[in-house]
Amino acid sequence: MAHPNITFDSNGLVTAVAQDRATGEVRMVAWMNADALEQTLATGLATFFSRSRQKLWVKGETSGHRLRVASVMADCDADTLLLLVDPEGASCHTGRPTCFFRRVTDGGLGEPERQALPYLFELEATIAERAAATAEKSYTKSLLDAGASKINKKIEEEAGEVARAIAGESDERVASEAADVLYHLLVGLRLRQVPLRAVVQKLIERSSQSGHAEKAARNADGTGPA
Ligand SMILES: [Zn+2]
Repeated sequence: MAHPNITFDSNGLVTAVAQDRATGEVRMVAWMNADALEQTLATGLATFFSRSRQKLWVKGETSGHRLRVASVMADCDADTLLLLVDPEGASCHTGRPTCFFRRVTDGGLGEPERQALPYLFELEATIAERAAATAEKSYTKSLLDAGASKINKKIEEEAGEVARAIAGESDERVASEAADVLYHLLVGLRLRQVPLRAVVQKLIERSSQSGHAEKAARNADGTGPA
């Protein structure tokens, strides 16, 4: 057995949850056996075990919507796996980004709606909806209608306020002013139709670049392991 510490069930399977590492969005859940896990680790592409077809399948092998796996985590008792992924395209067979788009209430299973999103990304989606709304008035829409100069004025104003808060005001003020910056930044991103995901992607790229640069520097001066 290649993975002696993973607790596979009596069918030799373990649940695997795929989470977008940039957005935090849970994309899908599927099964893995030891071979699927091994292949995932070897190729960096999420590979699952199909219970209906009784064979391995690489996610996206027909749709092209692959999941590039940045890391695999196990939970405390090692019977569920979490794949932190960079998704290529929609992850659900319905064409939606994630499989989780139906709300469960005490009345039962609801109709398909906006997919489950971590709050900052839900706020981004709400801003997009406000932008598209023709009837209702909102602060968000008034900013977007006024355009870049109005939005930039707010971003600069709020950035100044959070800077002053960081320098000498309460934690509550720091949090509140940082929230104002984030909100107005999201409005600015909406104006330019730049997705928040693309912003987080930049941070991911930078951290991996700095990792490589750091490693190269360590190796060059001979102070670290190759
Ligand atoms: Zn699905």
